[in-house]
Amino acid sequence: MSMSFLVKPSNCHHLSSLTAMAMSSTFCPHIPNHLRSIPICSSPTKPISLSLKAFSSQPSNASSTDELPARVGFLGLGIMGSPMAQNLIKSGCDVTVWNRTKSKCDPFISLGAKYKPSPAEVAASCDVTFAMLADPESAVDVALGKDGAASGMSTGKGYVDVSTVDGETSKLISGHIKAAGALFLEAPVSGSKKPAEDGQLIFLTAGDKSLYEIAAPLLDVMGKSRFYLGEVGNGAAMKLVVNMIMGSMMASFSEGLVLTEKIGLDPKVLVEVISQGAISSPMYSLKGPSMIKSLYPTAFPLKHQQKDMRLALGLAESVSQSTPLAAAANELYKVAKSHGLSDEDFSAVIEALKQKLKR
Ligand code: NAP
Repeated sequence: MSMSFLVKPSNCHHLSSLTAMAMSSTFCPHIPNHLRSIPICSSPTKPISLSLKAFSSQPSNASSTDELPARVGFLGLGIMGSPMAQNLIKSGCDVTVWNRTKSKCDPFISLGAKYKPSPAEVAASCDVTFAMLADPESAVDVALGKDGAASGMSTGKGYVDVSTVDGETSKLISGHIKAAGALFLEAPVSGSKKPAEDGQLIFLTAGDKSLYEIAAPLLDVMGKSRFYLGEVGNGAAMKLVVNMIMGSMMASFSEGLVLTEKIGLDPKVLVEVISQGAISSPMYSLKGPSMIKSLYPTAFPLKHQQKDMRLALGLAESVSQSTPLAAAANELYKVAKSHGLSDEDFSAVIEALKQKLKR
């Protein structure tokens, strides 16, 4: 059994070659003329095959990624959705946006995006619709609620949910989208605000392989690599495992910073020491200096990290897997939330330890 992933090289590419192939697609037959010769900062990907026994997927077909869906919808313009949608617009895509708080759509309309007043209308007017929503509840609401995306879906369309949710939620949404005759792909992302701005996200996809191939050029506009992991639920699960590890790493790092200070050593030196050794991580180097100053500019909201810990623990419990470190870290995020830090960056979890020390 094998899985596949693709990485994009950094050079630019012209859409003309992509759209030539797209013209033969039955999925998105209408490529606007203005897209045919626009240079975009994305390029065809180089397929690299890996062997991994847990997953079954077909090797990626590079030529099938050379199709560009003509009309692209984007639901959810938060910290992540905004730069992702912006990169699609800048790349020349015909983008239609919707967000619960309508005012967040205005800058996108100024950039040339269209606006529709409901997820259903976005889905009905687009070939592929992306959703980047806060949590399972909002993902279900936007997809399946009143005037939800599913009611605008039909044969020949696709729904790509890039929110971080649990596998069950993803399967529920998939079932309704497919019942409407459309295709479904879950594609949660690894990478935060800056990688989203730079088009350097990592997509963890699963679901309809044909939609994966159709959406590939769009994923490559927003990301640097993409993994296709097979059945719906596998992308969500992989994302939860990644964020479970990240949440525990941040909690452990926080303990180290607080302890260093308590014993009279300089936490700035700790950050430097870590950066030079085997446990160095871009996350520590990026977040450490501001954590030392008790500053938490939000890239990844703490409430979303706690949500991911909760969902990862549920995933582990569903297979009777013990995850004691994640369980302990989750408690720390819950304490931080109870101190009103939900909307701060997840690195504010360190404050939960400081509160404990003060008692
Ligand atoms: P965010 O800034 O909080 O944005 C959340 C989005 O969901 C907003 O557009 C918000 O609309 C919408 N929303 C929330 N509740 C809703 C509801 N009930 N109905 C309709 N829309 C609703 O979050 P984010 O950081 O962009 O994260 C989005 C997703 O990506 C989350 O699943 C997160 O775990 C995941 N993620 C985040 C990062 C990161 O570093 N930030 C990285 C990887 C993955 P309003 O504008 O109206 O509030």
